[in-house]
Amino acid sequence: MDVSAPEIAYGSDVFNEKAMREHLAKDTVEALLHTMNDRAPLDPSVANEVAHAMKQWAMARGATHFTHWFQPLTGSTAEKHDAFFEPTGVAETIARFSGKNLIMGEPDASSFPSGGLRCTFEARGYTAWDVTSPAFIKRHSNGATLCIPTVFCSYTGEVLDKKTPLLRSMQAMDRATRRLMACFGETEGHAVITLGAEQEYFLVDKQHWLKRPDLMQCGRTLFGAPPARNQQLEDHYFGSIKPRVLAFMEDVERELWILGIPAKTRHNETAPAQFELAPMFEELNLAVDHNMLIMETMRNIADRHGLVCLLHEKPFAGVNGSGKHNNWSVAFNGRNLLDPGKNPQQNAIFLATLASVIRAVDLHADILRAATASLGNDCRLGALEAPPSIISIFLGDDLSEVIARIEKGKSADEGKKSAKLRIGVDTLPPIPRDTTDRNRTSPFAFTGNKFEFRAPGASQNCSTVCMVLNTIVAESMEVLAEAIEKLPADRFHEGLEKIIGAVIHDHKRVIFNGDGYSTAWVEEAAKRGLPNLRTTPEALAVQLEPQNLALFEKMGVLMPTEVQSRHDVFVDEYHRRLCLEGKVALEMARTLIEPCVITELKTLATTLQKSAAIGLTAGLSSIRDTAEQLGQGLDTIHVGCETLAKALAEENDKDVLAAMVELRKAVDAVEVLADEARWPLPKYRDILFVH
Ligand code: ADP
Ligand code: MG
Repeated sequence: MDVSAPEIAYGSDVFNEKAMREHLAKDTVEALLHTMNDRAPLDPSVANEVAHAMKQWAMARGATHFTHWFQPLTGSTAEKHDAFFEPTGVAETIARFSGKNLIMGEPDASSFPSGGLRCTFEARGYTAWDVTSPAFIKRHSNGATLCIPTVFCSYTGEVLDKKTPLLRSMQAMDRATRRLMACFGETEGHAVITLGAEQEYFLVDKQHWLKRPDLMQCGRTLFGAPPARNQQLEDHYFGSIKPRVLAFMEDVERELWILGIPAKTRHNETAPAQFELAPMFEELNLAVDHNMLIMETMRNIADRHGLVCLLHEKPFAGVNGSGKHNNWSVAFNGRNLLDPGKNPQQNAIFLATLASVIRAVDLHADILRAATASLGNDCRLGALEAPPSIISIFLGDDLSEVIARIEKGKSADEGKKSAKLRIGVDTLPPIPRDTTDRNRTSPFAFTGNKFEFRAPGASQNCSTVCMVLNTIVAESMEVLAEAIEKLPADRFHEGLEKIIGAVIHDHKRVIFNGDGYSTAWVEEAAKRGLPNLRTTPEALAVQLEPQNLALFEKMGVLMPTEVQSRHDVFVDEYHRRLCLEGKVALEMARTLIEPCVITELKTLATTLQKSAAIGLTAGLSSIRDTAEQLGQGLDTIHVGCETLAKALAEENDKDVLAAMVELRKAVDAVEVLADEARWPLPKYRDILFVH
């Protein structure tokens, strides 16, 4: 990437290798790099020196505080700041930051959700430095803070955050990849999981946002009739970017580059006021941290431009929602294993990796789906352009043809041996990237040299999704490796063909290259026995199934108690968010919408009365007609409010959802009748066209 413009110091706010070399002894740098790159344990004796250097570096760059920066189960990031300064006497301070401060912190964690893992009598958790992600400086309008990426655990060692299981799942992938690669004679090296997370978002004018309690409190509109000019014109996607938006994007990119985040691509998305930012892919752990920082930076910078950045999965009904496409792959010793490669050996490795992914996604589509479950994503999955909640794999015609030939080799009755591909002998036909990317309707698409998982929602932390993906693929790789290890050396390629062919045969039902948005696919998927978990409660329920608990435990990623606690946190979060939305909808309907309609009815009634009094006859029936319609609308809204209030009082989630849908219909029907000048909320038309 060329970011050599003189005013941009790429990565200058990151304690990266360059900063380390400037501030640390050579041996210490090597020890630290060894830990960062090769996942070796950190030698605790260097912690003090590193802490001191980090402090010097950060203070020279204007930082006054440090924080352990972590990712609790709430989905956002958390930090507790401590000043570097400690009082040493009356009106005297010294700057102090020890190795102990660096390695471990104790936030008062009782207010973070733990799903019952921490009893109140020992409510504290601790944070521990994740050496694999470099420290960085976060700036705000009036200062700067040194942020140390950390994991967050309870005193008994159970995880309380999203990062620890991610790191564990990366280890599982590393173990499994090594084992698989050893089958191909590559016994040295380690796996690197890569992620490029494309981030979709909306930008709206802050003035509009301030007038919409739903946007302010829930991040999405709970009411709003779609405008006449919506996506129909399809002139926004890849259109020229408006100057105000471009100014925002440029500021965002500048800040991200300083943080060493490779923001690379920017463009308009499908919906008006919708955009995308895509960074270049990085090692998974870092990419996840960077995505969190991207979201935070976009929110902050938007504010400076009088805009609000909406990361909700479906801010506007009837308008395209926002996802986060997780481009995922695995490399071994620097070579991407999902790249078909140039010779028979590389092809064989590619096909074994591909087969592992196909098997994993078919066997575990349910938990993969569960990882994307949230109230916000429920509004998006299956709607408009977004992925449906059925998880299927798109391979494209070329690759489908290749694996069909491998599978055919298995069954003798096929009789078409000439069409069979000989693994380890043949070189795969070129699999063009461009043609594979045409199908945008698949939730899990092979795009030439990586898989693109499109079901995750725009606001979600990528770690949950990638943790599951790593775990299930690692499990499949182990299974394949186990079979391959048993092959006699003289019949290796023949045996490998059989193993891969059998995996394809057993799991090909998950492959679907057609239109994933069609109703025909929903029926077809049901026939194939693929799960279709439409809602978050349905999807989350599968997490607790015995075979899924056993899987995470076997792979060393999550203990059953940890899965249970996470499950409880997510279920609770869903319920709380839904109640909040219900309450906001109810309050808006009662205190904004109903009074508006009542005032309008009053005006119409007065007009009718006065017109009749002076003997007017024309227009009276029209006014009466409008008043009738509005009156009926008001009645429907009123009934809707009563139903919603009851459902909220009973805390019945299903009823709350249903009541919100009905209430919304009633309000939206009145919106298109009522006097524009009096309508209490900015309309979609106003909000969606940023100028
Ligand atoms: P599209 O919009 O067509 O999906 P983009 O170029 O916007 O394509 O995004 C593709 C993303 O995939 C980028 O973040 C890119 O860095 C990432 N990517 C490319 N190769 C890999 C890989 N081997 N592993 C993970 N991500 C990758
Ligand atoms: Mg994409």
